[in-house]
Amino acid sequence: MTSVAPATKRVVVAAPRGYCAGVDRAVVTVEKALDLYGPPVYVRKQIVHNKHVVETLEQRGAIFVEELDEVPTGATVVFSAHGVSPAVHAEAADRGLKTIDATCPLVTKVHHEAKRFAAEGTQILLIGHAGHEEVEGTMGEAPEQTILVQSPADVDGLDLPEHGNLAWLSQTTLSVDETMETVGRLRERFPLLMDPPSDDICYATQNRQLAVKQISPGCDLMIVVGSRNSSNSVRLVEVALEAGAKASYRVDNAAEIDPAWLVGVNSVGVTSGASVPDVLVQGVLDYLESQGFPPAVEERLTEETLQFALPPELRKDLRRAVKH
Ligand code: SF4
Repeated sequence: MTSVAPATKRVVVAAPRGYCAGVDRAVVTVEKALDLYGPPVYVRKQIVHNKHVVETLEQRGAIFVEELDEVPTGATVVFSAHGVSPAVHAEAADRGLKTIDATCPLVTKVHHEAKRFAAEGTQILLIGHAGHEEVEGTMGEAPEQTILVQSPADVDGLDLPEHGNLAWLSQTTLSVDETMETVGRLRERFPLLMDPPSDDICYATQNRQLAVKQISPGCDLMIVVGSRNSSNSVRLVEVALEAGAKASYRVDNAAEIDPAWLVGVNSVGVTSGASVPDVLVQGVLDYLESQGFPPAVEERLTEETLQFALPPELRKDLRRAVKH
């Protein structure tokens, strides 16, 4: 009689994962603003799309608001990493608010591209998701000249001249593969379509998707740590499934893991979106160990060294505070 050896369990954690340079800068901006000006510091929208980060900053005295009319006149308000439209900047100036703009420089780059195309009289096709703050901010740069394209299927419904003066731009946190499919369809219909001067999907989104693609084929289960409203985290679940993970779920933290997901599972992959502090990933790895899985092995695709300086308006006040 032959006996079948039990399958070996393993946990692979993807790298890069978690915080990107833009998220790190935005979170540190609110922390330093709280230290410098004292609470409360108002923040328009969630500074980054992560529940844990928002709750931690709230405990320190940040007040998150949806719109500027909730901010008292004369107060300090931070704009989130996702960016704001020129109309929001104008409203803040009208209200006499002190603003600190924590928009990620890679989102600002897309705003500049939109302004430049619009100034040249080019119609912009913005690939992105309706209602996402980043999309609202970018569209606000040239509302009359921007059309939102949410998926490859949207391309068929566009009522534009075949040889029109058109360019595409995109949200920074989309699936690279799906975006390229949409661009391919756009180009079939509009052969003169212009590209953005450089990639709009940012380095962090691309690296996290490539890293998860690398480990997905051998995984029975991929756990993605990230909040429901985090676009790049939700994309990681889709990318994992497309790349061969047998199942994939997004969780805010270890407490959201359903033990049923682990039944019959030998190989687990773990990653996290760009707004997720690593302590939450560690919580997931600890939970897996408590369920009989071995310590995780990291598979690193590449190193990330990019860092962004804090917003200039905050740096100026920090320098002044040091001098006094
Ligand atoms: S995901 Fe990309 S665009 Fe968004 S904050 Fe991070 S680096 Fe910036």
